[in-house]
Formats: sequence, structure tokens, C-alpha cells
Amino acid sequence: MKEDISRLRGQLSSSKEIVIVTHRNPDGDAMGSSLALWNFLAKRGNAATVITPNDYPDFLAWLPGNGKVLKYDTDTIAASEKILKAGIIFCLDFNNLSRLEGLGSAILASKAWKVLVDHHPQPEPFADFAYHDTNSCSTAQLIFELISELGEKHLLDKDSAICLYTGIMTDTASFRFPSVQAKTHRIAAELIDLGMPHYLAHEQVYDTNTEERLKLLGFTLLEKMQVLREYNAACISLSGSELKRYKFRKGDTEGLVNYPLSIKGMRLSAFFMERDGVIKVSLRSKGDFDVNKMARAHFNGGGHRNAAGGDLKLTLDEAVKKFLELLPGYRNELQK
Ligand code: 5GP
Ligand code: MN
Repeated sequence: MKEDISRLRGQLSSSKEIVIVTHRNPDGDAMGSSLALWNFLAKRGNAATVITPNDYPDFLAWLPGNGKVLKYDTDTIAASEKILKAGIIFCLDFNNLSRLEGLGSAILASKAWKVLVDHHPQPEPFADFAYHDTNSCSTAQLIFELISELGEKHLLDKDSAICLYTGIMTDTASFRFPSVQAKTHRIAAELIDLGMPHYLAHEQVYDTNTEERLKLLGFTLLEKMQVLREYNAACISLSGSELKRYKFRKGDTEGLVNYPLSIKGMRLSAFFMERDGVIKVSLRSKGDFDVNKMARAHFNGGGHRNAAGGDLKLTLDEAVKKFLELLPGYRNELQK
């Protein structure tokens, strides 16, 4: 859904302070789209602050503007003051306030004019202005299009281009998902024209592993991957002590869930890990198998058709058992 852009232009022409929020455990698209918008607004002369519910992986800390981000769980007082003063709040890369945890109630209580920019299905109706397209590969792509529609593309610079490219690159697994459109490549080309060093984004995000992270990957694939050929499905689980053994740091398990899908014929992959007292679930699929529906129905979550997540208040073994017991019900869909 795209609205009359002049309403947004009108709001931005006031001197209202702006807050930009994104979802808990921010990923590359969450931080890329938020910091791109932040860099753009700074260039435009609007005062803005990015607030995340919590911290994010080190491989996103190189994004321009990173040093100014407030984290609600550790910078609560400063972040709350910004929210109180805000006249406009941008909500990026989520569409359900529960994905913000504690920050969600602060946003709900605020009287600020709320703008949603997002590509997840089934948005909650909390925004005053929604720029929403489930066909878009990333929120970063939508931010580029929103700025273009505002007629202010000339204000994009190398810094905002770096953030936008990183958002698009990470949410499309480096331009390989079906969500990538011809225009995604045209946008990437425009970002490179702005001086965006594309190789640097790949290096900063994908070639900054620790030795332990690679060993965790090796251990996981060798010891912890269960392939259920009968269902074209696979499942991986990691306990808190296994994560500790490999000196787990935020972001270390990012992408693990994708590995089983590189086995010929696999349609569904699930990853379960013990974190912050719950079992965090990640689901990925290929083709028509809808993991958004599966996450909503069984894992207290949601997401996109081919990438979704959620959490369970069970033990790790119970969570895996739950998944394995669900598979027979999906047999026909998974064998298609
Ligand atoms: P990941 O598996 O990388 O954590 O998440 C993949 C996608 O699933 C995210 O982009 C997001 O759309 C969705 N997702 C992950 N966790 C949750 C959750 O707890 N609730 C909802 N509604 N969506 C989630
Ligand atoms: Mn996204």
C-alpha cells in the first residue's frame, strides 16, 4: 500500500524531531534502512535519532551513523526522552509492535505521527502513513523508492548508499532470492554510482568472522544437522552450552539455517537455539512452502513466505520434538 506522498512531505517540512525505530535483534536490513534514512534526514536538515530495542552484530557496526544509535535496553533514559519529544516516528522493517518488546509500548503511547515502511505481510494498523509492499525484497529498497517519490534522490550520498546497499544485500542473500527484481539491480547500480564500494559491503558483512564462528559452523553441520529426506526438510539445534563452547557472539548463528537448503531437493530448514531464556526459531523454505504461516501457527512468530521466525517457551529438545511432530502434517506440501 502506498499513500499520498504529499502528506509525508508536509510532515517533514515542519521542524518536528524524528525518531526511527526498528525490530529487536536488528539485522542488516533493519540497520541499513534505519541508518540510510537517518543519513538522508541529516542531509535534509531534519533532527533524527535511531533507536533499536537492543544491540546488533559487530558486522553492522561499520555502517555510517552507527555511533549515534541508541539502544533502548541499555540507553533507556536517553531513548525515552527522544521518544517523548518526537513529532514523527518512523517504524522500519517490522509491522507488529510486539517485535519491539519494551520499546513497543513507548511507541504506542507516543502521540507522534507514525510512518511505517516495511515489506512483511499482514501489517498491524498502528501507523498514520504506511509505505508498505510485500513484493519488495527489503525495507532498504522501499526507503530508496520513498526518497525517490519525495523527489529528493539528489540528497542521497555515499553514506546513505552504503546503508541502503547493505540492507538490500543482506535481505536478499546477496541478490539471490526470488524477491530480487530487475529494479533491485538498477537501484544497486545507482548506489554504486554514488561511490558505494560494493566489495567493501560484502567484505565487512561476510569476511569478518572469528575463528570460533567458523568452527561453530563446522561443528553444527557435522554434529547437529538432522536431514529428514522423507519430508525434504532439515533441522539444526544449538544449546546454550554449545554456543558458549564456541564463544558465541551476537550474529554468529546468522545464516546457519540456510545451509541445509543447499542440499539438493530440500524445501524446508529449521534452526532452534537457546537464547535469553527462550528457544529462538528460524525457518527458511524454497518455493511455495509458506514458513510465515508455519511460524504464525506454531512458533509465536511470523515473517515472509520463505523466511520466518518466532520463539518457544520450551526446552530445546521439546522444541525440536514439536517441529519433528509437525512434519507428517506437511508431508504433501513438502513433497510437491
Ligand atoms: P530470522 O530467522 O533471521 O531471525 O528471521 C527471519 C525473518 O522472520 C525476519 O526477517 C522476520 O521477518 C521474521 N521473524 C523472525 N523472528 C520473528 C518473531 O519473533 N516474530 C515475527 N512476527 N517475525 C519474526
Ligand atoms: Mn527486511
